[in-house]
Amino acid sequence: MTWDNQQSIYSQPQPPEILVADGDPRLLNFLASLLRQHGYRVAEALGGHAACDALRARPFKLALLDLRMPDINGLDVMAYAATAQPDCGIIAVSGEKGFTSVSRALRRGALDYIKKPFDPEELLETVRGVLGQQSLLQNHADMQSRLEKSEALHRYIVNSSPDIVFMLDQSGRICFINNKVQSLLGYAPHQLIGARFSALLDEQDAARGSHAILDTSVSSDNPRTLEVRMKSRGSRKANRHFEITAFPIDPNTWPHPSGARDQLASQRARFYGTARDVTERKEAEAFINFQAYHDLLTRLPNRALFKDRLNLAITQARRNGQKLAVMFLDLDRFKVINDSLGHAMGDRLLQAVTRRLKSCLRKGDTLSRFGGDEFTLLLPAIHGEEDAKQIALKLIDTLSAPFRLGGHEVFVGVSIGIAVFPNAGESLDQLIQNADIAMYHVKGRGKGDYCFFSEAMSTDTANRLSMERDLRLALERDELRVFYQPQVCAKTDRVLGLEALVRWLHPERGLLYPGEFLPLAEETRLIGAVSERVLAMACQQVGQWIDNGHETLKLAVNLSPIQVEQPGFVDNLMQQLTRHRFPTRNLEIEITENVIMSDLEQISHKLRELAEAGVRIAIDDFGTGYSSLNYIHRLPIHTLKVDQSFVQDIRNSDDGACIVNAIIAMAHGLKLEIVAEGVETNAQLDYLRQLGCHQVQGFFYGQPQPAEHIARLLGELARPTILA
Ligand code: C2E
Ligand code: CA
Ligand code: CA
Repeated sequence: MTWDNQQSIYSQPQPPEILVADGDPRLLNFLASLLRQHGYRVAEALGGHAACDALRARPFKLALLDLRMPDINGLDVMAYAATAQPDCGIIAVSGEKGFTSVSRALRRGALDYIKKPFDPEELLETVRGVLGQQSLLQNHADMQSRLEKSEALHRYIVNSSPDIVFMLDQSGRICFINNKVQSLLGYAPHQLIGARFSALLDEQDAARGSHAILDTSVSSDNPRTLEVRMKSRGSRKANRHFEITAFPIDPNTWPHPSGARDQLASQRARFYGTARDVTERKEAEAFINFQAYHDLLTRLPNRALFKDRLNLAITQARRNGQKLAVMFLDLDRFKVINDSLGHAMGDRLLQAVTRRLKSCLRKGDTLSRFGGDEFTLLLPAIHGEEDAKQIALKLIDTLSAPFRLGGHEVFVGVSIGIAVFPNAGESLDQLIQNADIAMYHVKGRGKGDYCFFSEAMSTDTANRLSMERDLRLALERDELRVFYQPQVCAKTDRVLGLEALVRWLHPERGLLYPGEFLPLAEETRLIGAVSERVLAMACQQVGQWIDNGHETLKLAVNLSPIQVEQPGFVDNLMQQLTRHRFPTRNLEIEITENVIMSDLEQISHKLRELAEAGVRIAIDDFGTGYSSLNYIHRLPIHTLKVDQSFVQDIRNSDDGACIVNAIIAMAHGLKLEIVAEGVETNAQLDYLRQLGCHQVQGFFYGQPQPAEHIARLLGELARPTILA
């Protein structure tokens, strides 16, 4: 079926049906046929009852009702029709001389009347008139209802828009605003009518916003779009972002008739606009932006932003002839803490470290997380190295206090390398790289310190790489050696123990000392393999001497912090002793105070296990580390080794002011064994002996030596003067 066909079937106008009711059958017949002759469809009702039945049965456009019918009179039928078919027009037919019942019928809603006897022409004219009037009324009602529906639809569309829709008058006052303003900003729309639109904008955006919205140079095809912040009801600060699209209303599409209705607010509208809430998008953008330039854990600038700022600072420093400093910070014990306490604790530690570091900085400084446990710091516009030094000292100091992490107390420490522009590099990469080199230099010297970059260091770095390769080879080619230094009884000069000290017989560079390669071994994690080798050689060698009759001979080995902090440290050590069948009671391990303080709880656990197995524990370099003596009686410690610096302070035998006195007195009080290191002179030896120091060690008895030279000392008096 085509559309035309459909149209013709459905739109064929049916002639309206007219109900004719009369009590007189002849008159009824006459009326009906007259109307039929003129093309009307007619239903006949003989009397009021029949008329009511017909009205109940189907719709009529018009009813001609005789006012006086024998059963139910016309007025009652009219009353019935008013409820049953309110749209049916009524023409009253009256046989009365007077007008009483006609006027009553007209008052009750009849549209017109006919008086009997009637002239057919007059009757037809009246019917036509009423029908015409009725269709006018109908059209009007239809139009009204269509308008109402259309208005409701538009209202619905406008109010359910996800955006705020508004109209403004010439001066920027609100003429219309949809309901969305309530849910997005909390204002009831009617409260805003007449208010300035700019009052909804954040103060900082108000001027720019209203200027752009009231711009008449744009059109609906090419509207003005801008982003502004809008205020929620009751808050002075903007908290949501909106994208506003606005344009002037074209007078041709927006008729505003003159007259009284012109006063209606919406009739004054000159600008149309929508405001879309883009807060979430803005926040997402801001987050992405933040993420691109920050480290999310510490919220510090990342590498990219740091480089950006450094570049800027370099340009500025160059222009103003100023200096600036780049620092490279590396946490000293982070990896061990992270490995043993877990990453969650590691993360918390990094955040805590960040807080402390930040507390030392000035406003213009940039601290950034460079990666892992590395930070970089930019100090723009400094006067000289002294400024940088002061900051470095502050940073070291703030990180030297312990951190409390979920019941653990940890010491982290930091090593800082500093490169000052322009001396230590003119470009961004050079400065960062040289600060990094200086930092490694600090690590090599024993950490927890700062150092300025110098040219000599860069050659060091080149060396480092080849050293690392060489050290791996050294393990393969068996180039490591153990030298021994006797620990001698201060009273009897007998050798009580031997400290194992590693040496590297480098194929090209000759004999290397631990200070030259152990820091590198620690950084590269080769320290484990190095130690294992040293322990194996020492156990094997000293074990032989023990077997040969020196049953009480003690072997002292040095352990690096990294080893002790490893989770499997105790098991590992015990396994090695078993493998070499070395008696545990002959072994003394030497650790430094810093190791203990890095994590008191963990370490004390490990040391207790070792002590229970019979291993002795000595604190090496005693007096140079953290001065908290608290730990001493909480740990199974057997020996204190007085650091050589204190021993070397002894110039003559009656030098009473040295720290050695205090340390030895304390060791006595705690019933600990004492070994004084670095004894080089007879005077020192005498002094120590007077103080009641048990054992001594030092060049006075000779340099550390390979096993073959040591063998002959055993069982003899070690003192060279006596030997001579
Ligand atoms: P340390 O444990 O304090 O060892 C004593 C250092 O002082 C040794 O240096 C020794 O040669 C030196 N020394 C001994 N007597 C005197 C003296 O009278 N005067 C002076 N000025 N120095 C004396 P060395 O062998 O260069 O070792 C340096 C450090 O390297 C050691 O310090 C120790 O911490 C570490 N180390 C040595 N061997 C090993 C090892 O096998 N493993 C580990 N982890 N560290 C080791
Ligand atoms: Ca030692
Ligand atoms: Ca020492």
